[in-house]
Amino acid sequence: MPKVYFVIPCYNEEEVLPETIKRLSLKLMSLIKDGKANEDSRMIFVDDGSKDKTWSIISAYSKENQFVGGVKLAHNRGHQNALLSGLMTAREENCDCVISLDADLQDDIDVIDQFIDKYLEGCEVVYGVRSSRKKDTVFKRTTAQGYYKFMKMLGVDIVYNHADYRLMGSKALDGLSEYKEVNLFLRGIVPLIGYRSDYVYYERSERFAGESKYPLKKMIKFAVDGITSFSVKPLKIISNIGFFICLLSIIGFIYALVSFCMGSAVTGWASTICSIWFLGGLQMLCIGIVGTYVGKIYNEVKQRPRYRIEEKIINKAKESEKKE
Ligand code: UDP
Ligand code: MG
Repeated sequence: MPKVYFVIPCYNEEEVLPETIKRLSLKLMSLIKDGKANEDSRMIFVDDGSKDKTWSIISAYSKENQFVGGVKLAHNRGHQNALLSGLMTAREENCDCVISLDADLQDDIDVIDQFIDKYLEGCEVVYGVRSSRKKDTVFKRTTAQGYYKFMKMLGVDIVYNHADYRLMGSKALDGLSEYKEVNLFLRGIVPLIGYRSDYVYYERSERFAGESKYPLKKMIKFAVDGITSFSVKPLKIISNIGFFICLLSIIGFIYALVSFCMGSAVTGWASTICSIWFLGGLQMLCIGIVGTYVGKIYNEVKQRPRYRIEEKIINKAKESEKKE
């Protein structure tokens, strides 16, 4: 029987945590009963520098519920880093496989059984894929799906409609630990690790309490990060645009010269100014894109730590006789 770990990043989740802990504990106990997980299985709640009572809730529950463990990050490092710290903690605890999920349980936890079945069949990575996006707002649905298509176009291998709800085996975790990048985009990295993988389909529901911790600004940053961390195509597109515009301006110049020789004066002050502005803007945009990559290189070469753990609670396996 595998030692299964759940990893749940939490940022200001006091409203959902008690219910989430209850539901996940029941799930874990039923997995143990069904012989799909052993008694040493645990849940790790990562407190991503929350400002509310998230950590005190986690530590209080860990005292009465042996399955509950926690990691407290010293400051808010964002969902991806929080998730990574939890995954790496699970790896240090020598788990056989780990399932990552959100604290709001929007992802259907009943498919966890299928995750483990696939793992037992020999898959190292199992991706949770949303079967539909009916419950999303029109805005979220179109932007999200457009984004996946755009990423594919740029040559980035990501799983369509898969967020960070997935199972990873210990070999995949070892693989992940070798990726040292600071600009984390886990859904781009995991397919690069390799090994046998499979998909499990599920329906995503609404948050049962609290509000989204991913406002539009964070979402846009995340999307841009995904693109610039995995594809250098935007750089190529810039040079192509530059080349094309140069070509156009040469043709324009020749045209102006010919018409000047034929006696008709080159008029059109407005069009000249317009094109200067256009080119100036375009150049600034292109420099901005190049700058984004340079900025990333800057961040990567510094190799700063991606998170810092302030406190850690894992109930040891020996105590596992006292059941809840
Ligand atoms: N989260 C986090 N750090 C952050 C923002 C979010 O750990 O800085 C966690 C959050 O607690 C939740 C998960 O990331 O467990 C997904 O966030 P949320 O459900 O708010 O995003 P949405 O489902 O609205 O996209
Ligand atoms: Mg959510």
